[in-house]
Amino acid sequence: MASFDRRAALRLIAPLLWVAACQGGASCNRDGADQASTAAEQEVSGDMGDGIYEVIPRGPFHLDEDLKVDAREPAPATPKAPTVVLAVLDTVRADHTSLCGYSRKTTAYLEALKERGAVYSCRAYTPGDWSLPTHASYFTGVSVARHGAHYAHDAKDENGERIRSLYVYPLREDVRTLAEEMRDRGYQTVLVSDNGLLGEAGLQRGFSVVATRPRKHDPRADWVPPTLLRVLAEEVDPSKPLFLVLNYLQAHDPWVAPDLSLDWDLLDPQMAPADFKSGFRRFLRAGLKPGDERLLRRQLTDLYDYGVYREDQALQRSLSTLERAGWLRAGFRIGITADHGEMLMEHGMWRHLFVYEGNTRVPFLYWTDGDSPSLPEPFPAIAVHSLLRDGRLPDPMPAVASVAIPNPDAGRRKGPGSMPAVAMWFGDEKLVWIGGTYMRIDLVEDPDELAPKPLGNHPKRSELEALVAAIEAGKDRRGEVDPALVEQLRALGYVE
Ligand SMILES: [Zn+2]
Repeated sequence: MASFDRRAALRLIAPLLWVAACQGGASCNRDGADQASTAAEQEVSGDMGDGIYEVIPRGPFHLDEDLKVDAREPAPATPKAPTVVLAVLDTVRADHTSLCGYSRKTTAYLEALKERGAVYSCRAYTPGDWSLPTHASYFTGVSVARHGAHYAHDAKDENGERIRSLYVYPLREDVRTLAEEMRDRGYQTVLVSDNGLLGEAGLQRGFSVVATRPRKHDPRADWVPPTLLRVLAEEVDPSKPLFLVLNYLQAHDPWVAPDLSLDWDLLDPQMAPADFKSGFRRFLRAGLKPGDERLLRRQLTDLYDYGVYREDQALQRSLSTLERAGWLRAGFRIGITADHGEMLMEHGMWRHLFVYEGNTRVPFLYWTDGDSPSLPEPFPAIAVHSLLRDGRLPDPMPAVASVAIPNPDAGRRKGPGSMPAVAMWFGDEKLVWIGGTYMRIDLVEDPDELAPKPLGNHPKRSELEALVAAIEAGKDRRGEVDPALVEQLRALGYVE
């Protein structure tokens, strides 16, 4: 009885929840915050435990001291096949990259790649709403419904009592990964990831070298370039072709305080990052005065933008290392995108657990010495799989779709981020399914997604319904989850 009533109730309130509250900053009130910030609240309410959300007041950085790597320069590379690279800028939303017109110079290197001939899209959409499902899609070329790597359900006994918590389902065994395919083609397959999750849940399948950053609470894009250097010098045969996956995590919370000695145009040079955590918690409880709330948003934006900037810089250092060592001489295919964006207080949300534009629209670049296809818009970022494997877009092109299957713990609360949601994009139109309700949004008329309309008999309705059915059918997998994986998720703040 309870579950039926709950579903019916969700259908009624879903459009309201989508719109949420707290837009316009100062107008946010207590009710609005409680209703709209659910995804954030699920992460920060209750037991704050081990301080996952602490901003790390670190800096100034001394890169050479802090990340000293005892590696010699790699031997000159002499591969006989193109080098293939997937570089994921974790948590980077398109509209906060200067590549896509953002006023701050966050991604000078992406702009430089554009000048060097990379094709790009500022309307690419991620297949999932957080790291695991999206990376699994990039690695396999199939949708979240097919690869099955996403949040799981609790295991319950016949009386409905929870007997074990299963937080995620790993990648299905019967789906081949790009690393496995490239390995079979004679490539050496290397993963260097600031996001430790990429070494878990089946995402590591097919890699001969896995270097992930296990330390908790400290995303550091600067870890990647020296680690790559060491791997190239010590683990890689310079004569064999190379498939490489890189992940940079610094735009992901907990954010690192900017180094004030760098040339970085802070909005608020007086910002006090150490206060951020308490400030945000007060925001969630709507206890902030309007002026404080604006300051908090500015601080959040400062920290986030700085993370994007550092990821861009670390990408530059990494690709420069490859180029300098000769890895691009025999040709190259390099795909650069993000696995999701980040909510920066729109709809009262932060972090990333839903299908709003801020969370799903990411930059996408493809840089090659071979043929560069023109990228349609909107663009399905999952197409990076075919571009890297085959050097061309998939045929037919996959749907531009994004899926959010929430953490089961979120079911205790209501609102965006607590219900499964599916979005599809057709031109400027976005079709959404959330909590049993179908809606559409015209992104030209309503770019902030504040006024969804009923979907009605839309000509694309059946496509959305088919995807919803596939998600619904595939989401209820049962299985064991590696405890080490749960630890990784805890470190990233996805489980309590
Ligand atoms: Zn991620």
